[in-house]
Amino acid sequence: MTHALTTWAGSHTFTGGPVVHPRTVAEVAQVVAGARHVRALGSRHSFSDLADSPGTLVVLDRLDVPTVVDAAARTVTVGGGVRYGDLARDLHAQGWALHTMASLPHIAVAGTVATATHGSGDTTVNLAAAVRGLELVGAGGQVRTLTADDPELAGSVVALGALGVVTRVTLAVEPAYDVAQEVWLDLPWTTALERLDALTSSAASVSLFTDWRGDRVGQVWRKHRVTPGVTWRLPEPGDELAGARRAPGPVHPVPGADPAACTTQGGAPGPWHERLPHFRLDHTPSAGQELQSEWLVPRAHAVAAIGAVRDLAPLVSPLLQVSEVRTVAGDDLWLSTAAGGDRVALHFTWHPRRAEVDAALPVLEAALAPFDARPHWGKLFAATGDALRAVHPRWDDARALLARRDPDGVFTNDFLRRTGLRD
Ligand SMILES: Cc1cc2nc3c(=O)[nH]c(=O)nc-3n(C[C@H](O)[C@H](O)[C@H](O)COP(=O)(O)OP(=O)(O)OC[C@H]3O[C@@H](n4cnc5c(N)ncnc54)[C@H](O)[C@@H]3O)c2cc1C
Repeated sequence: MTHALTTWAGSHTFTGGPVVHPRTVAEVAQVVAGARHVRALGSRHSFSDLADSPGTLVVLDRLDVPTVVDAAARTVTVGGGVRYGDLARDLHAQGWALHTMASLPHIAVAGTVATATHGSGDTTVNLAAAVRGLELVGAGGQVRTLTADDPELAGSVVALGALGVVTRVTLAVEPAYDVAQEVWLDLPWTTALERLDALTSSAASVSLFTDWRGDRVGQVWRKHRVTPGVTWRLPEPGDELAGARRAPGPVHPVPGADPAACTTQGGAPGPWHERLPHFRLDHTPSAGQELQSEWLVPRAHAVAAIGAVRDLAPLVSPLLQVSEVRTVAGDDLWLSTAAGGDRVALHFTWHPRRAEVDAALPVLEAALAPFDARPHWGKLFAATGDALRAVHPRWDDARALLARRDPDGVFTNDFLRRTGLRD
């Protein structure tokens, strides 16, 4: 059945159906047990056919699962369809926090961790690495619970929907904290590259926004962690910001866009979940009319990889709304883009010019190939099969796990076949 359901950005029209909204885990199990092909949809903020299926599409936005904090274990268990922004408000009201958030709070928990979505920070692991347990409805409608000590958990978190429908996610939490956010403009690239480590370690989260043209980085966003109730002042800028100037007022990363959509800047501390994302829950994040891509390279290659993209500015910049450079700490999740060590993420928010973007992707990937670049699973990339296997050391283990847990390919789709994760 064809219908008009699309990804958030309109970049892919889902071909599967029907779309169902189960209210209980038992209903999810019934749907999965009765389907030849089925997949879970999250908040549809990925850009490709990643979430599509030739069969039923399961949306968990009405799933009746309570959010439960375990203060002793420092975890929260939440329904897979809950948006991070809603979870964050709930947690904050109870005095708890997540360690990081993505640039937007609109995305659903299970879909977010399935693609190794990340925020920013030298010592900040991605959102998937906070997972301490999963409940998922696998092939045949079997409900399985994976706890932190389950050897399959590391292969099951960033699983791209290929193991089934994740109905509950248990995440690590910590006591609530505040964050102060400040923005700097026009940092010389020479300073940024010479002092990259000092720059990215100068706050809990640092983002560089650029169009790769010229000799200056357009914006540097810094998010500082603040202990609530303690007198705090913005740190004086060090050498890492030499030549930059403080933003005189609120800015949006996309040139010309309204900063009203952005979280509070200017250095005033506020609740973590109102500063860690760049965009407000009640506004459209980013540009709306857009495509996105991102590659993550090991920290050791950061400067060279940035140089390689700057060399491609004549190709890349005309297609670009803005790029963002962030850091992500390493983790041990099999298909994570940060598996095995710290990475630098090079992100591209494109104009919605699909054919031209599609043509640019292999050129960018060729330029980044010497740097062991891993594409973000939820964004647009060209690499397939062997190229992906070459940059994911646990690829064969992941592939074997997916085949063992779903021998009949109930959750298989074109995306998984194209990548080579499924036959
Ligand atoms: C404006 C914008 C800003 C973004 N910012 C960031 C950012 O800061 N950092 C970053 O890393 N990424 C970012 N992304 C990418 C985004 O975080 C990912 O694409 C993420 O996967 C979106 O989550 P979702 O719930 O929309 O997933 P969907 O796109 O709906 O699905 C993604 C995958 O998860 C699977 N899935 C969804 N729900 C379930 C479930 N219940 N059980 C099992 N599998 C499931 C789907 O089958 C699919 O394979 C951004 C995207 C947009 C549009």
